[in-house]
Amino acid sequence: MKEGIHPNYYQAKVVCNCGNEFVTGSTKKDIHVEVCSKCHSFYTGQQKAAAARGRIDKFNRKYGIQ
Ligand SMILES: [Zn+2]
Repeated sequence: MKEGIHPNYYQAKVVCNCGNEFVTGSTKKDIHVEVCSKCHSFYTGQQKAAAARGRIDKFNRKYGIQ
């Protein structure tokens, strides 16, 4: 039996700067983010859209969210 292949997997509570909270699967129990899919919609059409989208893509890749 090898250990360490499968890290502990939690239902992590993600808290965004906008106050939105949601749950996702992660190896971390608690995650804090600057932007989420909810507040990203508020940025649509604004200058921050590209930056926010980039952060979300980075976040999604990091945590394996499709
Ligand atoms: Zn948010």
